[in-house]
Amino acid sequence: MFERPAAEKRAVFLIDLDHFKPVNDAHGHAAGDKVLIDFASRIEGHFPGGLVARFGGDEFAAITPPLGDEQDALNFARYVIAAVQAPFDYNDVALRIGASVGVAMIGDDKVDSVGEALRRADIALYEAKRRGRRQIAVYESALESAVQARSWMEAELKLALQAGDIVPYFQPIVDLATRDVIGYEALARWRHQTRGMINPADFIPIAEQTGQIQEVCEAIMTQAVTLGRFWPAHVMLSVNLSPVQLRDKDLAQKLLAILAAHDFPASRLEVEITENALITDLMTAKTNIEALRAAGVSVALDDFGTGASTLNHLRVCQFDKIKIDQTFVQSMADSNDSIAIISAIIGLSRNFNLRCTAEGIEKASDLELLSGWGCAEGQGYLFGRPAERTAFETVTAPEDSAAAGR
Ligand code: C2E
Ligand code: CA
Ligand code: CA
Repeated sequence: MFERPAAEKRAVFLIDLDHFKPVNDAHGHAAGDKVLIDFASRIEGHFPGGLVARFGGDEFAAITPPLGDEQDALNFARYVIAAVQAPFDYNDVALRIGASVGVAMIGDDKVDSVGEALRRADIALYEAKRRGRRQIAVYESALESAVQARSWMEAELKLALQAGDIVPYFQPIVDLATRDVIGYEALARWRHQTRGMINPADFIPIAEQTGQIQEVCEAIMTQAVTLGRFWPAHVMLSVNLSPVQLRDKDLAQKLLAILAAHDFPASRLEVEITENALITDLMTAKTNIEALRAAGVSVALDDFGTGASTLNHLRVCQFDKIKIDQTFVQSMADSNDSIAIISAIIGLSRNFNLRCTAEGIEKASDLELLSGWGCAEGQGYLFGRPAERTAFETVTAPEDSAAAGR
């Protein structure tokens, strides 16, 4: 009888290139192809007795040579990340990308098929990307529950969209001098059949990951413009766009189609985008912003000062408005730094000729300070919490008569 040799320990990697799409978009497919080929040759030699293969798009799979333990696998993964550190050359242009790596150990009884190894590496890759760029994650069973929660949420969200359970709540934006309402921001809520109201922080990230975010936005916008059409003409409607949407080159066209279908003037729509929308693919974001502005839509830079933006973005992209993030407003009373940041943002908006809205105003004293510093618009619980209906529906247009009567 032969004794069965101990299974060889190896690791399966799934490698995803970060920032590959912008390279393709900005420099053309030939540049993208060159980066893929150069990347493959940089890492290929480092898997002797292993295997490296392109898996599709900007994803690669690799099998390591036999390993001692998980630590060895991590060292291989670190090599992959380091291999993309140096820029790639294309016609004397230095192209920079990154890589994320998901690792699954094989040689373990439970991993009895290639499919299972790849499934685990995929779960780990997902975790690596969730942690940020240039990260490595090793599969562990604890990651399974996150996968299940996500697929549950994805299926539920699909049903919710069909059933009309994703609804806009409206929060007033006011003129700080007169306290008159000058607009409403539509904020997404999920009216869940059994779990009650779910906040956007709990489902927008899932919708972004599963590719459902555009549908969520369309559901919110459609309902909001349907009500907003009947508001006084000077009252603006603001909607939030996810960074994921800004990477879609057809975004502007899709949003304008919704306005046209509901006869809502583009000049009354404002879209709010965060600085993070400008990071991964500045050029597509810029093209979308320009197309929206050309059609008359205003563009606001949301949560200003909290993201990974540079002032250069204010030069490259044209905005109509900056929104001061509520964290600065709410820490004003005990932080001189917050005060300095707020007055710098107000100054910046003035110099760039942009409107400025302070968010998260809860106290009358904050209102006084902010308007004293020259901030003209505000939003916050002091003026109104997000609600299902605006002042115009309850006062002048009770739900059904609005649609029927006009
Ligand atoms: P945001 O765009 O910065 O929206 C402002 C958030 O601050 C809202 O939370 C609002 O309810 C809350 N807020 C407003 N005034 C005050 C205040 O005085 N005090 C405090 N403590 N909070 C205040 P909400 O509705 O939970 O939305 C959270 C975030 O979710 C939004 O932040 C936005 O980034 C995102 N979001 C909401 N709706 C959508 C949507 O339709 N699409 C996308 N992509 N993102 C959305
Ligand atoms: Ca917003
Ligand atoms: Ca905000």
